[in-house]
Amino acid sequence: MTTQNPEYGRPALFVDGKWITDTPRSGEVINPATGEVLASFPIAEPEHIELALSSALSGFEVWSNMAPDARARIMNNAAAAIREKSEESARHMTLELGKPLADSRAEVENCAALLEWCAKAATEQQDRPLDARPGFESLKVRKEPIGPVAAFAPWNFPASLAARKMASALAVGCSVIVKPAEETPMSFIAIVKALDFAGLPRGVVNLLIGDPAQISTQLIASPVIRKVAFTGSTTVGQKLAAMAGAEAKPSVMELGGHAPVVVFDDADIDRAIGLSVVAKARNAGQVCVAPTRYLVQDDVYDAFADGFAKAFGALKLGDGLQPDSQMGPVLSPARLEAVDALVQDAVAKGARLLTGGRRLNRPGNFYAPTVLADVPPEARVMQEEPFGPIAVVNRFSTFEDAVSVANNTDFALGAYAFTGSQETADRISDALDAGMVGINGYSVVFLDSPLGGRRYSGFGSEGGYEGLDAYRITKFISQAVA
Ligand code: NAD
Repeated sequence: MTTQNPEYGRPALFVDGKWITDTPRSGEVINPATGEVLASFPIAEPEHIELALSSALSGFEVWSNMAPDARARIMNNAAAAIREKSEESARHMTLELGKPLADSRAEVENCAALLEWCAKAATEQQDRPLDARPGFESLKVRKEPIGPVAAFAPWNFPASLAARKMASALAVGCSVIVKPAEETPMSFIAIVKALDFAGLPRGVVNLLIGDPAQISTQLIASPVIRKVAFTGSTTVGQKLAAMAGAEAKPSVMELGGHAPVVVFDDADIDRAIGLSVVAKARNAGQVCVAPTRYLVQDDVYDAFADGFAKAFGALKLGDGLQPDSQMGPVLSPARLEAVDALVQDAVAKGARLLTGGRRLNRPGNFYAPTVLADVPPEARVMQEEPFGPIAVVNRFSTFEDAVSVANNTDFALGAYAFTGSQETADRISDALDAGMVGINGYSVVFLDSPLGGRRYSGFGSEGGYEGLDAYRITKFISQAVA
């Protein structure tokens, strides 16, 4: 097996404390900005998966019996090790995903901060005593680590989505088998390397890549795994949740989104446009909480639509390694096709194309920032998650109209509104059916906030104290007076 890009290095499995670069089968990692093959990655065979399972079981025995302080020390040391190598990791991330280097740097830092926050938060946990009752010595509720976790993460935030699951699980004492995305393996490998360097006991984290369906099927069916965590498309999430359900195992599912943005006529329109361009360009729109459906009130509709299309359309696209690139490519030719098909469908059904609507004539998977106006409800993009640099801008008259369109998809993950009125802010926060609501901004993910959706956007929370609880199981202990 050869490495095609020496800077990128060689992806590896991490099984029972050993890095494995060579297996009988392999796949390729492609740079989406150039089409260049970055490296071959090893495909885990059933025996690697089996070894990861037995390793995770013994890792759980060791790790769950360590004091939270001792676990926190290792996680904090890993965070320091991640920061030591942050520039190298950020470059690997941009090579495999294409996004601007500044965004990759921020994601690497977020992984370090996640480890630190989860480690600290887990040390604060205590038993919850019940009120004293005659005849009882004590009555208390205890949270214990649920057991070895199988975690599946996608490519759009190749390090932090896997790291959020892993950090939460590790902090409360679980071992984890993680499958990052095959399209972007190196970003998360860097995080596991840092934990290994920091002295994480063998078996506490195992990392597998290969055939996603084979890995998830074998892991979820194993009696070793006690919890399943997945971020990705609704279709795959439904399959994994069903497999977990068949084994009576709980799961946490962070699936797709199709976030509405309600812009009221009393909003600061220039500010809304400025923030919207940044939010929509992030990761070339491949973000589960990306704004996708703008609903703009009559009086400010033209000003918003024209201003947004002008500013979004003016972004400089390019390889994320170029310092002046403001938006990178989409992940793959398949994504490019999917994005273009949604745009062509909308235009054929009567939408007005304000900007973009085409691939760029250059190597790599670049799609022009696209704004579609007056999109009819029957256009596919009104219901299907675009996961690309497309925004719909439609108009509304009344609060009730806006809410009914905003809530009218199968998804319920992120939702946003811009308004100058506190009363409207409160009313729309209540009315939007979503797991996360942002008012006058797009910041809906923090270290200590819960991230999660409703309906076809999934269930359960990742992040924050709620995210730690996803990896705990409850025990009630009643001790009577002897
Ligand atoms: P996908 O669901 O095929 O892949 C998403 C991730 O799931 C990938 O990393 C893949 O390796 C993994 N996966 C696929 N099949 C699996 C299986 N059987 N078992 C375990 N893991 C499996 O989606 P895609 O085509 O790569 O991306 C496009 C769509 O995915 C988008 O439309 C979007 O809805 C969704 N998506 C959502 C998020 C999110 O953050 N919620 C992230 C990535 C993709």
